[in-house]
Amino acid sequence: MSNLTVKLSGEAVETINADGISAFPNECCGFLYGTESVSGERQITLAVPVTNSKEGDQRRRFEISPLEYMRAERYALQNDTALLGVYHSHPNHPAIASEHDLAVAMPYFSYVIVSVMNGEIADHKSWRLKDEAREFVEEQVFIESENSVLNPVS
Ligand SMILES: [Zn+2]
Repeated sequence: MSNLTVKLSGEAVETINADGISAFPNECCGFLYGTESVSGERQITLAVPVTNSKEGDQRRRFEISPLEYMRAERYALQNDTALLGVYHSHPNHPAIASEHDLAVAMPYFSYVIVSVMNGEIADHKSWRLKDEAREFVEEQVFIESENSVLNPVS
């Protein structure tokens, strides 16, 4: 575990969880927006589902089209927020980043994975590419509950 931290607002987590459950047994995916402090701590305030554009079997794969990335960047600019990452679900699979996730990951982004076991939320983890290396570092995930108390997950 690294000292990189990602805090998810209660609202963002609810969106991610609902998307993961409704897409089950397929993978869902979406964008993560928020702010980053000078010390590098990330606060995700908003999660926005996008269509999984992967053709064929979506139980083990997701894909976000270049057009959606363009729209997401534009949304961030217009709403004075930052596009900080992408979330997706792992149906009946742990929230561990796969070889494929690593192969397609982009620098800087936080990759939040929600594990959905038998249609129920099991776990959240987040991954970020190590600087100048094709290797993931696990970020610490904190979920901000409605009363603003921070609860470490997993
Ligand atoms: Zn994955």
